[in-house]
Amino acid sequence: MQLKRLYDEQAPKKQWGTRLDPCRGCDRGKVVNAARDGVEDCPLCNGTGKMEVLVPPVVGVRILRAGRVQRFTQNLINGGLQEGWLGMAGGRITITAEPENLTYRIVRVPGAYCCHCDAPVPGGLTVALAAESLAHVAQVHPGDESPDPHNPAGYRVESCYGTVLEVGKPIELPAAAKMDRAIRDELAARAGQKYGAQVIGPGALARRKKEKTPASTGPGGSSNG
Ligand SMILES: [Zn+2]
Ligand SMILES: [Zn+2]
Repeated sequence: MQLKRLYDEQAPKKQWGTRLDPCRGCDRGKVVNAARDGVEDCPLCNGTGKMEVLVPPVVGVRILRAGRVQRFTQNLINGGLQEGWLGMAGGRITITAEPENLTYRIVRVPGAYCCHCDAPVPGGLTVALAAESLAHVAQVHPGDESPDPHNPAGYRVESCYGTVLEVGKPIELPAAAKMDRAIRDELAARAGQKYGAQVIGPGALARRKKEKTPASTGPGGSSNG
């Protein structure tokens, strides 16, 4: 999902917040001194390398890209809740946005899942919970090799909310942006040939997958991220 925040530049100044940006006048808080024989603290940011900038309140978001199948990180959800353009209730995530509001139904919550039967397992990142997940795999699927080579233990930990679009239309990247990406992939592939290394962009990876499995859904399938 790609969003652009819409700010209310006309809002009264007392509603504006602050954000720390890297200082533009120095390199991590240091500038060359007057004698040009060393460095000294940047006078703009007092040597901190950061500058506080005023930002107007966010009134909503414009959606640049939204898939039919979408993963939401906790960070994105927290940011949206805080800024007021995202709501979460009744197993759904709603986004107040241009060109239209979107509602996603939550089909998977963050947690651990069995790679064999897809059942939620008690697992997590702590050792005790991992042991419970391993116990499920050992009891229900004894001796079976994990179907997921990335998770040879037989269970995986998902950190995102998995959702499916329920109200609204998915939004594709504009053609120009897609073309930019294709050009980047092409250049990356050529650089790989030139230097004898394998440089693979996300687009190139998808194409390779497609070549391997010609019966795949092709363009217009699900898109994550
Ligand atoms: Zn500075
Ligand atoms: Zn299982």
